Amino acid sequence: MTKYALVTGGSRGIGRAICLELAAMGYHILVNYQSNADEANKTLELIKAKGVSGEIMKFDVSKQAEVDDVLGKWLETSKESRVLEVLVNNAGIRKDNLLMWMSNNEWNSVMDIAVDGFFNVTRLIVKDMLVKKYGRIINVVSLSGLKGLPGQTNYSASKAAVIGATKALSQEVGRRGVTVNAVAPGFIKTDMTHDLNEKDFKALIPMARFGEPQEVADVVGWLASAKSSYVTGQVISVNGGLYS
Ligand code: NAP
Repeated sequence: MTKYALVTGGSRGIGRAICLELAAMGYHILVNYQSNADEANKTLELIKAKGVSGEIMKFDVSKQAEVDDVLGKWLETSKESRVLEVLVNNAGIRKDNLLMWMSNNEWNSVMDIAVDGFFNVTRLIVKDMLVKKYGRIINVVSLSGLKGLPGQTNYSASKAAVIGATKALSQEVGRRGVTVNAVAPGFIKTDMTHDLNEKDFKALIPMARFGEPQEVADVVGWLASAKSSYVTGQVISVNGGLYS
């Protein structure tokens, strides 16, 4: 039986590094993305270069009908020959603004992708995991959701919501061998942070540098493995020692 892992927002940045880490663990990878087909294809090429199989799955995590249509239909097919063991809810965006200036779109789009995205995708997949009595769900949250960062009330609220959901869901599904954890990165070098100057933030970070996507993927890989079997409902910070 082929073992699958789905990574939302697998086309770039942290999601790509997670796809490659899970591929190295032998999973057939479902690379989800929203709009950037070139980057999604590049991730798939890198997976295949490791001698592992994968496929691209395009849907917007915030749109329930689209998730149901694409992922829901996929789950209905070839049920007998595959098992989806790992889900990484990684898709996310940042639209920073001071709350007093924040537009409806800046608030709603960030919330919808993080919170509705978690719900739309996880609800479909957790059923299968409960039946199989094994699963690993890992939610990529943020330092911002633990500490709160000015200019990010939307983003902080969305990540804090997913942290709450992580803790609640872990208690619903623990008895059936499904673990649910979150990873909270600090500043990681990706497209999302390319407007931030590492030099301006170095003094705040005990390790005096931004992190690499692989450093997040290494923690996700461990949580996705059988070795994390008695760890659930936790938020693991990967932030170079920033106080959170
Ligand atoms: P990134 O480089 O901007 O990549 C974002 C990924 O999310 C892309 O693959 C993008 O797909 C996908 N995506 C965005 N909206 C989507 C949607 N509606 N449906 C499906 N996929 C969607 O960001 P990143 O830095 O790797 O961030 C990954 C995760 O880590 C996010 O949840 C982010 O909040 C979190 N995080 C990042 C940092 C950091 O410092 N970088 C720190 C803390 C937490 P397309 O390529 O199609 O656009």
